[in-house]
Amino acid sequence: MRSVVVVGAGLAAAQTVAALRAEGFDGCLTVLGGEGLEPYDRPPLSKELLTRTEPAWLRDELGTDLHLADDVRLAEPATGLTLGPHDVEVVTSTGGVRADAAVLATGSTAVRPPGWQGALTLHTAADAHLLRTALTPGARLVVIGAGWIGAEVAGVAAAAGVEVTVVEAASAPLATALGADVGALTVPWYAAAGVRLVTGARVVRVGPGAVELADGEVLGADVVLAAVGARPASGWWGEALPVSADGSLAVDEQYRVIGAPGRVVAVGDLARRRSPRHGWVAGGHWDGALRGPATAVRGLLGHPARGPADDPAPYVFSTQLGHELAGYGVPGPLDDVVLRGDPATSGGVLWFTAGTEELRAVLVVDRPRDVAAARRLFSGASLPHLDRAVAADPDRSLRDAAR
Ligand SMILES: Cc1cc2nc3c(=O)[nH]c(=O)nc-3n(C[C@H](O)[C@H](O)[C@H](O)COP(=O)(O)OP(=O)(O)OC[C@H]3O[C@@H](n4cnc5c(N)ncnc54)[C@H](O)[C@@H]3O)c2cc1C
Repeated sequence: MRSVVVVGAGLAAAQTVAALRAEGFDGCLTVLGGEGLEPYDRPPLSKELLTRTEPAWLRDELGTDLHLADDVRLAEPATGLTLGPHDVEVVTSTGGVRADAAVLATGSTAVRPPGWQGALTLHTAADAHLLRTALTPGARLVVIGAGWIGAEVAGVAAAAGVEVTVVEAASAPLATALGADVGALTVPWYAAAGVRLVTGARVVRVGPGAVELADGEVLGADVVLAAVGARPASGWWGEALPVSADGSLAVDEQYRVIGAPGRVVAVGDLARRRSPRHGWVAGGHWDGALRGPATAVRGLLGHPARGPADDPAPYVFSTQLGHELAGYGVPGPLDDVVLRGDPATSGGVLWFTAGTEELRAVLVVDRPRDVAAARRLFSGASLPHLDRAVAADPDRSLRDAAR
């Protein structure tokens, strides 16, 4: 393989460039980006929204250097893709880039429902700048959506003297990610942080200075943040690749796009990965964009697979409303849920395959030692098996529960 084009210039793209060079690829490498900025880290955009005014550049945070590539075009987004019999061509406003292989790493974009033009979103450094400027002490902020980002922004804004209301359509925060029963454990955090939380409330109108709910309540708002999720940035290639209903690209264990030639891989938020241990793993979390590219690059270059290291357990972290959360694995709706201590203060939640001791996912709240144990539990070739009673006991180490 003599040339590769990487589409995207975020975390997954930067990691791809680093992995290609680390694996000895010395051919021509082109990077196409859409934001006109060097790669930066997104998690601080919400967690340090009001305290960090400059992006957290990945070259400082992780030591990644996009300029290991030969041709870096940070403000030349891809607008089309043609798959030839032996190569690929990525179309841009200045023509096209032809290469032997393409790595697609265009991430995701924040969802803003139609009619919500008055709402801000938070996905880019530019979004963070707008939101930060608007959030002065005493301002009224309505956050629509009590997911990861909504909860994080609500906490930092309230701590800075902003009057915050969070409106959530489901019966509890984090219901999509964790299920409503587990998400409900976080409800007390809102009042404790001085945030009003309204659940089971559908927004019918976002107007100038107000958010109207289906029950007729009108919430006055100086700033509205739509935090209702992100969608893979997949529209740009038209019909060239098969897109799933959620906008993602389904990829195999080595991130090859299913239904496309093997020389097209997708990494990061864009990809929904087939995992031997976890089934289908959606993108959307930092760790997947960090680790996936090494596996994708090894597959692309025909280098041997590394076993479990190529199938990392999905990992999500969040700092919200004064609490540190870490999750491993993929919880399923039919799993048995076991509480470890009191997750609302310091504890965890374990998801077991129904009626078994097979652990499918764990959420840890404010217990750093459990985070390390959970990481180790999920590092084997198969899902861990735990004694449920021991795992539920917060006075015992999670590692003691391993079978
Ligand atoms: C505010 C915020 C907080 C977050 N906090 C957490 C957290 O606490 N924990 C966690 O696990 N995850 C978190 N995430 C998610 C995490 O940041 C993402 O999973 C990660 O950034 C994905 O990296 P990526 O490279 O796939 O995509 P992105 O970071 O989205 O980068 C994709 C890049 O591709 C560019 N692009 C798009 N279209 C094109 C095109 N057509 N041509 C060329 N370039 C294009 C985009 O401009 C962008 O720069 C957070 C995300 C946000 C927005």
